[in-house]
Amino acid sequence: MKYMFRRARAAVNRCCLWGLCIAMCTGLFLPAVLAAEEGTALRESSRPTLRVVATFFPVHLFARNIAHSRPYVQIDLLIPPSSGCPHNYSPSPQDLQKLAQADVVIINGLGLEAFLQEYLATLPPDTIIVDASHGTSPLPQQAHDDHSHAGCDHGTAKAYNPHIFAGPRQAASMVYAIAAGLAQADPRAASAYQQAAEEYAARLLSLDRRLAEIGSAAQQKGVVLQHDALAYLAANAGLEVLDVIQTDAEASPSPARMLELTRRIREHRPALILTEPQFPDKLAQTLAQETQVPLLSLDPLASGPADAPLSYYEAVMAVNCNLLERSLVQP
Ligand SMILES: [Zn+2]
Repeated sequence: MKYMFRRARAAVNRCCLWGLCIAMCTGLFLPAVLAAEEGTALRESSRPTLRVVATFFPVHLFARNIAHSRPYVQIDLLIPPSSGCPHNYSPSPQDLQKLAQADVVIINGLGLEAFLQEYLATLPPDTIIVDASHGTSPLPQQAHDDHSHAGCDHGTAKAYNPHIFAGPRQAASMVYAIAAGLAQADPRAASAYQQAAEEYAARLLSLDRRLAEIGSAAQQKGVVLQHDALAYLAANAGLEVLDVIQTDAEASPSPARMLELTRRIREHRPALILTEPQFPDKLAQTLAQETQVPLLSLDPLASGPADAPLSYYEAVMAVNCNLLERSLVQP
């Protein structure tokens, strides 16, 4: 009896399967699927636009990676993508208008957008401000006795290095913070944001593991940084930052400080002086000539092209890894 029932059920299943095949073959099924998909697309496109403004290039790229499957999420970049760190950016009237119209404003945090502080307080009370540094463990800001902070616009959080986007592990943490902020603004898509964040963060973390592998295989681990944007990348690779040439984006080091740097580099013989394409490297070149320590330019991803593909961070960080490996690890 049991057997017959099973046979009968199998026959029904077979019938259903055949019915499905016939429906598909006769074109009954496909239009139904397309109609359902069209319905979903229509529902998605008829949703009111969620206006998101991200302050600068890496934060914008992370937000795009999280929300790329949501056509109703419009993510604008506040400052030009080629500008690099917005340490001393002055917002235009158009920038302020963009901010005032946003549902969500995403910032790097840790005082990097000091220029925004006074404007954030004037935004409509229902604007969601997402601080992407939330949940990250920041590194302390590099400082020197003769280094003046006059003109340094890292704002109230000067004690921490704000360039968290340049470390893939910290970038993954930023991605989760941004996904949580978008979910707060758009709760119906919360699981989609979370899933996109998990997938993206997994790719970033695998780059971070590669950095750590390169650092652990390096014969020499000492480096000097031109600017402290590369401090997270260096720390994640297990490299030892002997010194930072220019901790202040605006003020150049004094002649006395340059002499001290030369002396320290000669004494400690770091493996590399790391420069950034976003920063003039004249001082680093002078130090390299004086000390015969090689220069290497790595991109901390503070800037990028306006039409950067979603995979831009992974591609550039992979190039950074290759360059570091070639310079630090003997074959
Ligand atoms: Zn910077």
